[in-house]
Amino acid sequence: MFQLRPPGTGLQSRERADGDAGGIADPPKGEFARLPDGPQSATDPRQLIRARHRSSSVLTIRQTLLSTLCASAHDEAMDSTAHKLDTDVVIVGGGPAGLSAALSLGRARRQVLVVDQARPRNRTAPHMHGVLGHDGLPPLKLLEMGRREVAAYGVRTIVGDAVSARASESGIEVTTTDGVIRARRIIVATGLTDELPEIPGLREQWGTGAVVCPYCDGWEHRHHVIGVVATSPQSVAQAQLLRQWSDRVVYFANDVGEPDEAEADALARRDIRVERGAVMSLQISNGRLEGIRLEDRTVPVDVVFTGPTLRPNDELLRSLGADTTDGPMGSWVTVDRDGRTSIPRVWATGNVVDPRANVSVSLGLGSLTAGTVNADLVQEDITRAPTKGSTSLASEPSH
Ligand SMILES: Cc1cc2nc3c(=O)[nH]c(=O)nc-3n(C[C@H](O)[C@H](O)[C@H](O)COP(=O)(O)OP(=O)(O)OC[C@H]3O[C@@H](n4cnc5c(N)ncnc54)[C@H](O)[C@@H]3O)c2cc1C
Repeated sequence: MFQLRPPGTGLQSRERADGDAGGIADPPKGEFARLPDGPQSATDPRQLIRARHRSSSVLTIRQTLLSTLCASAHDEAMDSTAHKLDTDVVIVGGGPAGLSAALSLGRARRQVLVVDQARPRNRTAPHMHGVLGHDGLPPLKLLEMGRREVAAYGVRTIVGDAVSARASESGIEVTTTDGVIRARRIIVATGLTDELPEIPGLREQWGTGAVVCPYCDGWEHRHHVIGVVATSPQSVAQAQLLRQWSDRVVYFANDVGEPDEAEADALARRDIRVERGAVMSLQISNGRLEGIRLEDRTVPVDVVFTGPTLRPNDELLRSLGADTTDGPMGSWVTVDRDGRTSIPRVWATGNVVDPRANVSVSLGLGSLTAGTVNADLVQEDITRAPTKGSTSLASEPSH
């Protein structure tokens, strides 16, 4: 059960959801619940969750506690190896990677609890691209659909922050802002943070007029005037890549990405103009990007591509003592191809361990990790299953 703080010390339900609290549910007979129609306007997915929580799977820890209480007797009767833990798997992070893992584990009849701040990396983007079958879908819509799908398999989702975790003899203990969760396994799918250069206007345009990924947004800006704002000498390569989408690319060296002679020559050969000097701000009018201001001039552009510093949200993994590997993009927690970290029972998937993982890759990695976590649990189930007397073939009834 959750070890909740004593009354009056701040167990505040962030969300109040009505309806069935869940537990391990059998797959629904018939179709999944239909999503409500209508545009998705909120840029803060937590608002979206709050607005729809009455019919969704998002639960508070308090409600989940109730459901756990109700479900426990049934669970133990169903599985004699059931542990006195809150759940089989706690997944921290409910983005594409976390929800994809939750879907596979829920369908494998595992008890799964997702704790999610509901601030996915692409939350400011109105549309998501390059995701087969969902090209152009608002990214928050994908997650809303995902939460409904996992709920159909009894996965419980909580809006909250996981603030620390520790490994114990029997499993993993995760402290959230509302209480403690104990699980047999943890999957950390907390994504990464894009640390933007301090350029006034960039933050407010992030996801619309200012973006990072050519494969996500290049097509929408084909033939447009694309400004590439350098954040390092490597930004020259981003400008060369974007030339694939437009022959009107302008490279803003921004004092940190001055091209060397060979690079300047290569940029010139592909008609990529270089603007030197520090970028002072973005020029925005009525919420729309119009240009890039340098010290003494403004250069009109239709969109800005830039390269933020990618910081994995890996505090939980580091606090658990997971090994890291240093590379050109900094220090990242080390995982094998299935998402296994150096710490037993601790797994990580998606952008928190792979900066290259777009939505499709994150979905795939989450699914892959879930499969191996389930296999790991099966091994533990075998080890912990009570010994039974061996059945002799001779005693089998003959036909
Ligand atoms: C502006 C922008 C546009 C993009 N557009 C596209 C696109 O069009 N197509 C595409 O394929 N990719 C796109 N991406 C990339 C895409 O956002 C990522 O590939 C994807 O979000 C990674 O999924 P994830 O599940 O690993 O992490 P996320 O989606 O970031 O999800 C992580 C979740 O974990 C939660 N979390 C973090 N820490 C905690 C904690 N301590 N406790 C509880 N919860 C926590 C977060 O709040 C979040 O909800 C875009 C990225 C950006 C920045």
